[in-house]
Amino acid sequence: MANRDGDGWVRCAQGHRHWGRFGAAGLLAYVPEASGDATVLLQRRSLWGNHPGTWGPPGGAMDSHESAVHAALREAAEECDIPAAEVSVSGILRDDHGGWSYQTVIAAARWPFPVRSASEETSEVGWIRADDVGRLDLHPGFAEQWPSLRAWLAPLTVIVDVANVMGSRADGWWRDRAGAAVRLHGELAVLAAVGLPGLPASIAGPVLERWFPGYVMVLEGAARAAAGRLPRPPDDLPGLPDGLPDAGQVRAITAAGSGDDLIADLAAGLPGRRLVVTADRELRGRCEAAGAAVTGPRWLLGLL
Ligand SMILES: [Zn+2]
Repeated sequence: MANRDGDGWVRCAQGHRHWGRFGAAGLLAYVPEASGDATVLLQRRSLWGNHPGTWGPPGGAMDSHESAVHAALREAAEECDIPAAEVSVSGILRDDHGGWSYQTVIAAARWPFPVRSASEETSEVGWIRADDVGRLDLHPGFAEQWPSLRAWLAPLTVIVDVANVMGSRADGWWRDRAGAAVRLHGELAVLAAVGLPGLPASIAGPVLERWFPGYVMVLEGAARAAAGRLPRPPDDLPGLPDGLPDAGQVRAITAAGSGDDLIADLAAGLPGRRLVVTADRELRGRCEAAGAAVTGPRWLLGLL
């Protein structure tokens, strides 16, 4: 459990020499744009050491007791002064070489906050448009993963049809709909923090080790009374529609009228990828027509 016990070289099953006895991790911070584009935070390595002068996410060796998220945030703070509070982790991509792996922690930022080179390992650091990344001299490991990473530089929001999901398990919800919605919120908050090990087949995209979507619970009817009993997550992302939760957060919204109409509006209007959880056939059709992916309550309940 010693700090820096991960420092050292290892040889992977593919015969390469890598830094990091327990693997390595890096932080790919990005700011999503309304147009669907993104800006990413990259570091240029110093002109000495391994792959000198190349660009990639700040990162380094993981210690034996560290998670990839912890190691990536620590390295980003040490090398580029990136404050952990400015980002919310949205996914992890693992590049497994056998016996050694590099995990890229993808993290959304609200704005391109100021950064600086804070260690001798960093010669430059800055925000770069995703379109321009391919023109840089990239670290070879990052260059290989960039197409997969780029596909996930946008919010992923799970929109939960609470009435439909609650109605799919016989746990006595009909006696106290608001209480059942509060319970479901607690379960979703745990899932949001732990992350998803997979996505339903209806969502296309490169496979990650883990996804940390934001969740929107749509409350209607008697379940709306749950709203006043729920903790409110942090502020919205500026410039994006009200109601979009941060990655790893759960947000409840109450429908003044029809819950289905609100869900269909969110499926059509939220930026990034939307996954609607409902078994309602008519609503599924409306959401799919709006470009959202859809899955049934069983998928979600199986993860809680
Ligand atoms: Zn290797």
